[in-house]
Amino acid sequence: MPDRFDCDVLIAGGGPTGVTLALLLAKAGVKVIVAEKEADIYPLPRAAHLDHEAMRILQAAGVADAVAATCRRADRYDFLTASGEVLLRFEGAERIGPGGWPGGNMIHQPSVEAALREELKQTAGDVLHTRWELVGFDDSAEAVTARIATPHGERQLRARFLVGADGARSPVREACGIVFDDLGFEEPWLVIDTIVLDQSRLPEANLQICDPARPTTCILMGEGRYRWEFMLMPGETAEAISSRESIERLLDSWNVKGAVTLERHAVYTFKARIAAEWRKGRVLLAGDAAHQTPPFAGQGMCSGLRDAANLAWKLAAVLNGAPASLLDSYQTERGPNLRATIDMAIMMGRTVCITDADAAAARDAQMLAARSAGRSPDGNMAFPPISAGAILAGTPLAGSYFPQPRAAGKRLDDVLGPGHWLLRRDELEQADLAPFASQLKHWFDAANAEAVLVRPDRHVFGTGDPAMLAEEWAALLA
Ligand SMILES: Cc1cc2nc3c(=O)[nH]c(=O)nc-3n(C[C@H](O)[C@H](O)[C@H](O)COP(=O)(O)OP(=O)(O)OC[C@H]3O[C@@H](n4cnc5c(N)ncnc54)[C@H](O)[C@@H]3O)c2cc1C
Repeated sequence: MPDRFDCDVLIAGGGPTGVTLALLLAKAGVKVIVAEKEADIYPLPRAAHLDHEAMRILQAAGVADAVAATCRRADRYDFLTASGEVLLRFEGAERIGPGGWPGGNMIHQPSVEAALREELKQTAGDVLHTRWELVGFDDSAEAVTARIATPHGERQLRARFLVGADGARSPVREACGIVFDDLGFEEPWLVIDTIVLDQSRLPEANLQICDPARPTTCILMGEGRYRWEFMLMPGETAEAISSRESIERLLDSWNVKGAVTLERHAVYTFKARIAAEWRKGRVLLAGDAAHQTPPFAGQGMCSGLRDAANLAWKLAAVLNGAPASLLDSYQTERGPNLRATIDMAIMMGRTVCITDADAAAARDAQMLAARSAGRSPDGNMAFPPISAGAILAGTPLAGSYFPQPRAAGKRLDDVLGPGHWLLRRDELEQADLAPFASQLKHWFDAANAEAVLVRPDRHVFGTGDPAMLAEEWAALLA
């Protein structure tokens, strides 16, 4: 009988979330098609920062080394008063994080997306179709039938699942009638990307200048670029602030004439919103389609990559016979992590987006006092572990993030490969694991466990007796 499906998973949207998901699925043997409505990669300023977990996901997708080759690192992320006092300080960006990559990696998003698309082509062939716009779909008990507008007319595709990775405006989310929980943050900013001619004249740390006269962000980027962001002041329009004269005036105070040239700019209204539902039948949402965060914590794209990592193994498992209810754990697990990420970004945004001089003075006094009393909400950024979902709750460290040690020039994930791992304490000295044995022993000591089952997205399924773990994992996927 001919295959009645065009693919297992149809992904609407060829942004970083959609293409990473496609790669992880294709590498797991799942047949994917990506429909992307635009001809080219989105050209305007967006992500400049990826954390160590995002880099590890790009490693699984096959592009982390290429991305790392063009990354730069800022050793600090400071929130400063207008007179230069430190309100918040986040450190550790250059240290290797639990994911096995530096804590902060400054990037150029279109280059990362180009690397992802190239890797997808190498892995799965021409499965990403540009100028293919999803214009509608029907979701039945056993398939999704999608209508795609292409340059050669409309065509229908039948898939087992549809993922809307179609960005903040998400036609898939709209068609499903899914509403947003609005977390109450909305501020307009001008973002300017420049090409660097003389790095020595630019700040070395990433900065938020909490100056009520003009809240400003300064950010390193990958590949010889540098970014400024300027908040629009009350009454200021996007058109007025975006003119060439206005941009030059804004950069004047940084005295960087000759050190940078303008590359691109855009005005965005930063928002904080989470879709109320992430799954409806055979349709799922991922990335900006499911959530949007102000960029102050540099976590929007990172969150989309985490969605892809969480969803990919579950979709692959369901396509291999696991119950479809496994997909419900996607939102249960990702929702709280997302909420914590967005709360952090809102805290940062509320710190910097103050344009009233009295309110800024009160903020400065309160935050400087908190900081000198050791009660500042800064330090290292860390987000909560999974507390409910596809984990063996109650076993030590279930749901936590399993680290990726590096040793002898190797990385654990490269050595053990994709899929789940059942690691036993008494096998840590064996050939493959030997270089990592001492680091892994620390982990086992903390868990006080004989064995750990690590999920394909590198979160801990559970710890305990190895036979019991294997049985419980098999039962989850049966
Ligand atoms: C100023 C700024 C700074 C940022 N900084 C950071 C940062 O430092 N770190 C970070 O992690 N994140 C950052 N972000 C966020 C990050 O850019 C986004 O979270 C990320 O691009 C979302 O990826 P996505 O694939 O989910 O969505 P998108 O990148 O929006 O991709 C969605 C794709 O779907 C396509 N599409 C839409 N409708 C259809 C349709 N009907 N059919 C087919 N295709 C369709 C679109 O053309 C698009 O290509 C920043 C964002 C901004 C604006």
